[in-house]
Amino acid sequence: MKKIHPAGFNPVSAPDFLPLERLQNLQLQRLQDMVQRAYDHVPLFRQRMQERDLQPADVRTLADVTKLPFTVKTDLRDTYPFGLFASPMRDIVRLHASTGTTGKPIVVAYTKEDIGVWANVMMRSFAACGLHSGDVIQNAYGYGLFTGGLGAHYGGEALGATVIPISGGNTQRQLMVMKDFGSTAICCTPSYFLHIIEQAPELGVNLKELPLRVGVFGAEPWTETMRRRIEAESGLKAYDIYGLSEIIGPGVAMECECQAGPHIFEDWFFPEIIDLKTGKPVADGEEGELVLTTLGKQAMPMIRYRTRDITALTTERCECGRTLRRIQRIGRRSDDMFIIRGVNVYPSQIETALLKVEGTLPHYQIILTRDKGLDEVEVQVEVTREVFGDTVGVLEQLQRRLCQSVETLTGLRVNLRMVQPQTIQRSEGKAKRVIDQRKM
Ligand SMILES: [Zn+2]
Repeated sequence: MKKIHPAGFNPVSAPDFLPLERLQNLQLQRLQDMVQRAYDHVPLFRQRMQERDLQPADVRTLADVTKLPFTVKTDLRDTYPFGLFASPMRDIVRLHASTGTTGKPIVVAYTKEDIGVWANVMMRSFAACGLHSGDVIQNAYGYGLFTGGLGAHYGGEALGATVIPISGGNTQRQLMVMKDFGSTAICCTPSYFLHIIEQAPELGVNLKELPLRVGVFGAEPWTETMRRRIEAESGLKAYDIYGLSEIIGPGVAMECECQAGPHIFEDWFFPEIIDLKTGKPVADGEEGELVLTTLGKQAMPMIRYRTRDITALTTERCECGRTLRRIQRIGRRSDDMFIIRGVNVYPSQIETALLKVEGTLPHYQIILTRDKGLDEVEVQVEVTREVFGDTVGVLEQLQRRLCQSVETLTGLRVNLRMVQPQTIQRSEGKAKRVIDQRKM
């Protein structure tokens, strides 16, 4: 007899719905294997375990994960290039690396099995936002050393969708392909998609008339306000995907059609939330730093990797029925935080404050300067052409409202400059929101 599934059910998503007990048994078994593997093959991890008088056998329950030492980004730099690998080079089929604007990049490795896991979680990511075979995925993440391009590519193919490996940049060609090839989904950074939205009318393309219906956006923090702007202007549904190269690349977590925060693919990645300062676990639902342990990475196991991303974990069951826990969308990276006159500020707070006000465009930049030892913040935001056409009084009023909105959300008085559309430099990858000129 043919099984009848609810509309939209995709069999590739089955692991997302594992009963909790089975999921936890699987997690424990994989965690134990992973700790043993890292202990046997990664000298740095073994040394830290020995310093704590720990043996792999001391991991008896999932809760025991908190006994294990953390891994941090500098560990990857300090052991550059291959010091954290747990597989010999003959078993490694792929290397990726961060572009490394300063100093050495970080290098990550994959065995054939690891590539399989990555394709699996990316495939489930696409399925979670309602894509299936027959969909045409325009993959505008960069191909190359960056993990975005190939990660999404293999996942899309595993799903049976048609993948267009267009990579980032060349907006005119992106729009031509989108129109002529009938793309139904696009993958890129949210800021690059904003750029596509802006260019479309100039090139005679009406995004709302195209078959495009899904956007898979990630690789940089973005806000809920930004999501609403993107959806209203393009007519697609915008989903938040989360990942990082140190763990696997994109596909660590992905939103389902409820758009209620990314579900972590917990059968492969074990999440914890810790207090930034003390490193101790926080209570369920409380904000802290996301720490991830890979449960199946052969070439480069990551035990308790501190992501620097700030979020909260929710155990509340999602309406989609997935058993996988969700994280709050990540709008903040502790690395992005800047301190100005003693106030901690995240670019995403400023983004929310600006986009709340009507008349603004979703393009902004924050410039930090120091004058006679005093820190100054200038926020530049583009406003619509109509605003510029208005009277001085209207302009001044808008400026006051923007300053007030920023002050209410951040506690910070800023110099606010409204600029013409297209003034702020566009990005084809990750947007540069903060320009800190204080060190110069
Ligand atoms: Zn869900």
